Amino acid sequence: MAKAEMMRAMVLEKPGQRLKWLEVPTPRPGPEQVLIRVHTCGVCRTDLHVLDGELTRPKLPLIMGHEIVGTVVETGSRVRQFRAGERLGVPWLGRTCGACRYCRGGRENLCDAPGFTGYTLDGGYAEYAVADEGYSFALPPAYGDAEAAPLLCAGFIGFRSYRLAREAGPRLGIYGFGAAAHITAQIAVHQGKEVYAFTRRGDAQAQEFARRLGAVWAGSSEEPPPEELDAAIIFAPVGPLVPAALRATARGGVVVCGGIHMSDIPSFPYDILWGERVVRSVANLTRADGEEFLELAPRVPVKTEVQLFPLEQANEALEDLRRGRIQGAAVLVVSESR
Ligand SMILES: [Zn+2]
Ligand SMILES: [Zn+2]
Repeated sequence: MAKAEMMRAMVLEKPGQRLKWLEVPTPRPGPEQVLIRVHTCGVCRTDLHVLDGELTRPKLPLIMGHEIVGTVVETGSRVRQFRAGERLGVPWLGRTCGACRYCRGGRENLCDAPGFTGYTLDGGYAEYAVADEGYSFALPPAYGDAEAAPLLCAGFIGFRSYRLAREAGPRLGIYGFGAAAHITAQIAVHQGKEVYAFTRRGDAQAQEFARRLGAVWAGSSEEPPPEELDAAIIFAPVGPLVPAALRATARGGVVVCGGIHMSDIPSFPYDILWGERVVRSVANLTRADGEEFLELAPRVPVKTEVQLFPLEQANEALEDLRRGRIQGAAVLVVSESR
């Protein structure tokens, strides 16, 4: 399909403001990049942190969005992996330096000089996007364009968090039952874990959703679970959940913080960390995480639940996410989808 010189995009001009529906130049791919006609783009909680200025170094003006599903329409001169007409997905990790000690040591998620899609690089809240081919993924054909989008961050980060928690034992708590949790819970249940889902107090709908996805228990994050947990993953950006999760976790257990931003963690007695409990964060993703997850997801099979919004309603999608009104994942629909 021929591309136009100009495209429509939802643009962040300044943190704290609403995104603006603007006409901007269509980006051109560099030698190792592909130009993608965007079909869908997931809306992630990280986008809210960028919008609110809690992540402090965005490119500005910025096109957010790091769960991009689209079709290649043009390839740079050195692109080998993808061809025009092929579908691919673009995640948060947009590029790495390849030279720092983290990159050389197989921990490119911690790279000294990374590029992040929809944060330091323009993302997918637009009709077109460019991406480095080496950081893009072929997507499992079983997923439609809308269903595939949440796999690219909620899925990847959820899976990385889960891998750090799963060795601790069979009882897994998940705090905050949004997009990442609804995918992670399905993988955990598939691998024989007992999932305990913690939601905002009184959120009967989210608790019902969690039970439907196989959680053995669902309740408020303020109440203790009926059994001690072996591990907990916190997806909600709420610091007081760290001591709450530690209190719910058995000796030797691990509490994994899966978000990129969290409100301050209140002080807590050493006693709830004692007993070789571990608190740790998860940062970004490696391409190996992405490949492993995309291989696993259709075999579970992970089913993503999506709420669709047209691109120009990105502000409404973000607001619904902020208010806890999204069940599963919010996805922007940009062009014809399948
Ligand atoms: Zn690096
Ligand atoms: Zn994300």
